[in-house]
Amino acid sequence: MMTDAFYRHLFEVMPTAAVMAVAGKIAYANPAAMRLLNIDKNEDILGHGLFEFVHPLDQTRSLNRLNKTGHEWANAPSQFRLHSANGEMRMLLSASVAIRYEEQEAVLITGLDMTEHAEMADQLRVSEQNFRSLFENMQDVYYRTDAKGIVHMVGPGVRSVLGYEPHEIEGKTAESYYPQATDRDAMKKAIMEDGKVSDFPGQMVRKDGRVIDISISSRALYDDSGAFAGVEGVYRDVTQRKMMERELQRLATTDPLTNIPNRRSFLEQAEQIFKSSQRYHTSFTMLMLDLDLFKAINDKCGHLGGDKVLARFAHTVGLELRDSDLFGRLGGEEFCILLQQANRDEALTVAERIRERIQELSFKDPAGELFLLTVSIGVTTNFDGDERLAKLLERADKALYQAKNSGRNQVVWFS
Ligand code: GH3
Ligand code: MG
Ligand code: MG
Repeated sequence: MMTDAFYRHLFEVMPTAAVMAVAGKIAYANPAAMRLLNIDKNEDILGHGLFEFVHPLDQTRSLNRLNKTGHEWANAPSQFRLHSANGEMRMLLSASVAIRYEEQEAVLITGLDMTEHAEMADQLRVSEQNFRSLFENMQDVYYRTDAKGIVHMVGPGVRSVLGYEPHEIEGKTAESYYPQATDRDAMKKAIMEDGKVSDFPGQMVRKDGRVIDISISSRALYDDSGAFAGVEGVYRDVTQRKMMERELQRLATTDPLTNIPNRRSFLEQAEQIFKSSQRYHTSFTMLMLDLDLFKAINDKCGHLGGDKVLARFAHTVGLELRDSDLFGRLGGEEFCILLQQANRDEALTVAERIRERIQELSFKDPAGELFLLTVSIGVTTNFDGDERLAKLLERADKALYQAKNSGRNQVVWFS
């Protein structure tokens, strides 16, 4: 019968490094392991996390091998890179097995130092240098979490992106940096469903409180049994890019003179409202507006003067509308409004009020003389048989034509 004393003695004299870990912490290291890691005193290793000595690039693989439950498993030999206490890289051929140690579930890890092969050491050093310089200088933030979302490692890029030191982030959940929990949940869902996300949009809060736009590319990590073990990926600050995208989007959809949607954007949004009204059998009304005798105003004030009149017209109309109404410039001095869910009477009331407000404005021409502006408005609603938005535009145009024909400065309902 072999005794505990026998095993202890064997470990002490064995030329192979052996380490015992309980709950991820080193509980015993034999003299060969101490030599391998360049550690003199027992207290410099006992109680330390097992992964402290594992190279960052090998930590995930190593974690997945060891992070198993139960007490009947063993891992075949595989190579891992280690850091010794004085910063040297070591290549270890390591095998591990679940054991009981002092009445607790533990892991016994044994390893052969393979570093001595000089060529390999050289390769190691170069690959380590490359990795370090990449890692230290990366604009993106590398991160890795465990299955509970606790950040185990975060790269130095986090200093500039979030304004934190890496150690301030490590050990905490990533949730704390997301202003909207829904963002984080959407990403989690995507990662769980597809195993990865790429260029996934979101926002984070910096240490100084500023909210930034980020883009994340990550993948799920699984342990040997296929269970979810965490997430590894990079995120980057895309605030500038987002701002430019929003500005480009605004420029592409807004009429610069009046600051309301341009023709294309208006028709796109109108199309959405039209389709939804078909699906849900709701009604909406359309107002087609054309300024009266605008050529004469241009003649009096010049084109730039006419532009100012147009801008003031659009501003005045906007004051009469609600957020849910859609107002756009179709072109020239022609405008269109969609009132959602407004019936005939409500729509006519709004149109009439707009007509009056415009009539109440007064303008000055370059000679200092006051003049007035009026607008003609054609109004219609959606019919069951309308298969396209164009049908409504045609009817509103016809009503507008009637308004012009019967003396302008009028509101006409299509009938
Ligand atoms: P009506 O009452 O029949 O509509 O008469 P109108 O003079 O307004 O005739 P119409 O609608 O056919 O002409 C619109 C004029 O608006 C023609 C064009 O010179 C002028 N216009 C179109 N776009 C602009 C613009 O962006 N700025 C200015 N200042 N004028 C414009
Ligand atoms: Mg006109
Ligand atoms: Mg016109």
